[in-house]
Amino acid sequence: MLEENLKFVENEIQEACRRAGRRRDEVTLIAVSKTKPVSVLKEAYDLGVRVFGENKVQELMDKYEELPKDIHWHMIGHLQRNKVKYIIDKVDLIHSVDSVRLAETIEKEAARKNLTVNILIEVNVAGEESKFGVSPEELPEFVEQIAGLTHIRVQGLMTIAPFVEDSEANRRIFEDLRKLSVDIAEKNVDNITMRILSMGMTNDYSVAIEEGATMVRVGTGIFGARNYAINGR
Ligand SMILES: *Cc1c(COP(=O)(O)O)cnc(C)c1O
Repeated sequence: MLEENLKFVENEIQEACRRAGRRRDEVTLIAVSKTKPVSVLKEAYDLGVRVFGENKVQELMDKYEELPKDIHWHMIGHLQRNKVKYIIDKVDLIHSVDSVRLAETIEKEAARKNLTVNILIEVNVAGEESKFGVSPEELPEFVEQIAGLTHIRVQGLMTIAPFVEDSEANRRIFEDLRKLSVDIAEKNVDNITMRILSMGMTNDYSVAIEEGATMVRVGTGIFGARNYAINGR
């Protein structure tokens, strides 16, 4: 089933790229493996998957230890400041930076380990109260506040769109995130580039690609439904 799912998603990505006149290599597929056991990740690895997304620090660390070292790990979930130190040397990219204090903690831990950490700013485009993220209005000031942190490289923006039945309903959200990234890029701030747009999940990644996503985060579409009841996540 995993193999078929991967083929299906890959095909959808290719079709969306074709519709949008984009190259396939402009879009990175992140296999969101949260709640799934290491054995399933290994199966995906053996099918060629090298980019995995996790949303819990402990789970990411456990899987990191057990799986091959050529995997690229992405932290996509809300990150607590006291846990930053455990993952900054293990992940390629932190998608979910949503406060200046979190950015400052990453800076401090990165300096201590002599690293430069790639991050995205999470933007709550839809303004949903239940979601983390900087509001579009706060974004310009947020960018200025973290631009001076030299052990951080801001690579772009991330958003989690609302859960909708019809993916078309999220097109505006993706369009808005892209516009925000263009506005920021035009300011040419030091340490800030806007080459990554992380947007689109199982229900809406095709639309996100049409609107400029460079990373899509697909969990259910690859691994099937998650069972939160069994492992309590
Ligand atoms: C779980 C999760 C995903 C994947 O969601 P699916 O709908 O299963 O594709 C993507 N992004 C984030 C931030 C997530 O937490």
